[in-house]
Amino acid sequence: MTHEPAAAEAARQVLEAVADETRACERCRLYASASQAVPGDGPPGAPLMFIGEAPGFHEDKQGRPFVGPAGRLLDELLAGIGLRRADVFVTNMVKHRPPGNRDPQGDEIEACRAFLDRQIEAVDPRVVVTLGRFAMERFMPGAKISQVHGKPRQLGGRTFVPILHPAAALHRADWRPMLEADFQALKRVLDEGGAAGAPAAGEPDAPPPGEQLSLF
Ligand code: URA
Repeated sequence: MTHEPAAAEAARQVLEAVADETRACERCRLYASASQAVPGDGPPGAPLMFIGEAPGFHEDKQGRPFVGPAGRLLDELLAGIGLRRADVFVTNMVKHRPPGNRDPQGDEIEACRAFLDRQIEAVDPRVVVTLGRFAMERFMPGAKISQVHGKPRQLGGRTFVPILHPAAALHRADWRPMLEADFQALKRVLDEGGAAGAPAAGEPDAPPPGEQLSLF
């Protein structure tokens, strides 16, 4: 939610503390091979948060998320729905670059879990976009990105929109239209005030077991 000034200041302090702690973090092996932590950044009361996988080469050098080719594509996709990077909070599942850009491992994701939880709580976004399967798996365990991408889902009072990772469309140009369509779906969610989407199992108003949508 967009924060009042006092709440924005409180959120800023939490985000700063999280950023400081990630810079000192040795909870998993990744800090040893990375140049620096990439905590994530954006306005403390951003209504929209993007969660990627892990910093890559460029992010590791600059200490900021999504500043390489995937980040440039993210900026283009944001511009396509009338948003700028400065409007959104961007972070990753893990805050240090895995060596050689390998996939983050389960214990590394777990070690960073509390940092991400505190960022979500502080920013308190209405809408969270997961980029790629690692971020999706955290919030929609067992879902298949090929089936759920672009489909909003209500979880814990927020709308989650799982989207293909932009890097995927850099490898497969024919996937770009799908990514653009997912951003149009995101725009519709934002235009509706972030309330669109099916409730998940266990959430108030969720369909009874056996009547779940095809998302799971
Ligand atoms: N890919 C990600 O998942 N995160 C980044 O910050 C950059 C590339």
